[in-house]
Amino acid sequence: MNGSKFATRLMLLGAPGAGKGTQAVRLVDELGIPQISTGDLLRNAVAAGTALGKEAQSYMGAGKLVPDELVLSLVVARLAEPDAAKGYILDGFPRNLSQAEALVSRGIVLDRVLSLDVPKEALMERLTGRRICRACQASYHLSFNPTKVEGICDRCGGETYQRKDDSADVIANRLDVYEAQTAPLLDYYEKMGILRRVNGTGSIEGIYAALKDALVM
Ligand code: ADP
Ligand code: ADP
Ligand code: ZN
Repeated sequence: MNGSKFATRLMLLGAPGAGKGTQAVRLVDELGIPQISTGDLLRNAVAAGTALGKEAQSYMGAGKLVPDELVLSLVVARLAEPDAAKGYILDGFPRNLSQAEALVSRGIVLDRVLSLDVPKEALMERLTGRRICRACQASYHLSFNPTKVEGICDRCGGETYQRKDDSADVIANRLDVYEAQTAPLLDYYEKMGILRRVNGTGSIEGIYAALKDALVM
């Protein structure tokens, strides 16, 4: 597009329910770089019944962060896969300062961090109505972004389901964890000069357009 250069080593930052997954799928389809969601990687490990999955499960069920070393091992392995060589969209990672510093110490450099800003009051409603595709992990909402056919993913035809941790009490914990541990990353990446803040309310298409503008280098 008019010779502009776009950032390709990206991170989406935002509270649970801010719309990271919703926007990541669109970026993947258009930019052809993979989404690397630590939540998805962890849920896969739980479903597969690996030792790591068994250890992570109780933290996830309670809405707490999984220990850094477990998450890091998943991310580092995923980033080493060939499809991540030309860029990637980190979604849900890093989630605290020590994870961010672990990336730096491994020489993994991000060129843009996109923050989706959504008022706290809107997040509970978004998360309690969320439905996820079992096959491609696309994110929908019963009223705000419904599938065309109830229970069936528009993108891949997979079956949609409600995540167990999308219940009011666990959501409340996850929002507290975000404020205490993840929100400090806004300052961290601002100081690095790679943060762009985007208004995460309004139409999904409008937010997507703003995110793409924020990718111009
Ligand atoms: P995150 O990955 O940041 O936790 P999701 O992308 O899964 O968030 O979005 C959370 C919920 O909010 C989903 O049900 C999604 O359909 C819905 N949602 C996403 N973007 C918007 C928006 N702009 N307006 C209203 N609801 C939205
Ligand atoms: P959401 O975006 O809706 O908060 P995620 O799918 O990103 O949900 O994460 C679900 C759960 O997986 C979190 O509550 C946490 O237990 C765990 N998790 C995901 N990413 C990380 C991470 N980077 N560090 C520690 N725990 C994580
Ligand atoms: Zn799907």
